[in-house]
Amino acid sequence: MTALSIREVGPRDGLQNEDPVPADAKVRLLDALSGTGVGRIEAVSFVHPKAIPQMADADEVWARAKKNPLVRYSALVPNTKGAQRAVAAGFTEIEVVVSASDTHNRRNVNRSTDESLDDIAGLIDLLHGAGASAEVIIATSFGCPFEGDVDPRRVAGIVDRVVADGADRVAFGDTTGMGTPRRVEDVVGPVRDRHPDLPLLLHFHNTRGTALANILTALRLGVTEFDASIGGLGGCPYAPGATGNVATEEVVHMLEDMGYDTGIDLKALLEAGRLAQEIVGRELPSGVLKAGPRIPL
Ligand code: MG
Repeated sequence: MTALSIREVGPRDGLQNEDPVPADAKVRLLDALSGTGVGRIEAVSFVHPKAIPQMADADEVWARAKKNPLVRYSALVPNTKGAQRAVAAGFTEIEVVVSASDTHNRRNVNRSTDESLDDIAGLIDLLHGAGASAEVIIATSFGCPFEGDVDPRRVAGIVDRVVADGADRVAFGDTTGMGTPRRVEDVVGPVRDRHPDLPLLLHFHNTRGTALANILTALRLGVTEFDASIGGLGGCPYAPGATGNVATEEVVHMLEDMGYDTGIDLKALLEAGRLAQEIVGRELPSGVLKAGPRIPL
């Protein structure tokens, strides 16, 4: 069985895009997910509470969560202050974000992509100096709501730059669900050819129903690391009410059936999915959560 690495992003990327929930609920969800066998969890982000109130209690949530020694936990940071908070909280795997689309980057952080890349070079040095690894997430890699398709050569150029600056891992984010199998081939193929040993993680949204097809396409290209969010937690930032992150249960259900080893216990995952629904007080988009697995567990 080919081993795959799934990173559960519900506690951070998911909850950050839902109405704020209490710290207690976040801790319960983190603890439930830590017991599913998932190998990686994006736990929190260290951002300014005025910018993102959903993560205002990141320090408290992380301090109270039970850390499973078999799980790699990561945190997302926007800047030096966030990086210092994450390191002080004990994180050794840290993510930073830049957008491949200049327009999207300017709308998000009021800086050009190049200016953000200069900041990220400094952040990578800071994190390495503190004994942490740095992952650069390249948002809008598969398309931008303002610019449309982003030239794959531009995405590849950003990868070259961050690798030269010392990034330990790179992730491609499908920020608004514009990825299709064709785009995955166009964007991921050249980067895999150029950096065959670079740890590359893909983050797909199911906004237009293509997330699982994108994952299968990426598997064919040799990618083995994927983000997914419990229940499909986290909406689409530019299309209110639309689906965002691909649901972890759907990814695990399909891949295990195909003979891949995710290490995840689907039964425990479905329980965590029901907890996620209870926490946000609405039905989540995961089809496997609604219908159950094709063969009951
Ligand atoms: Mg997402």
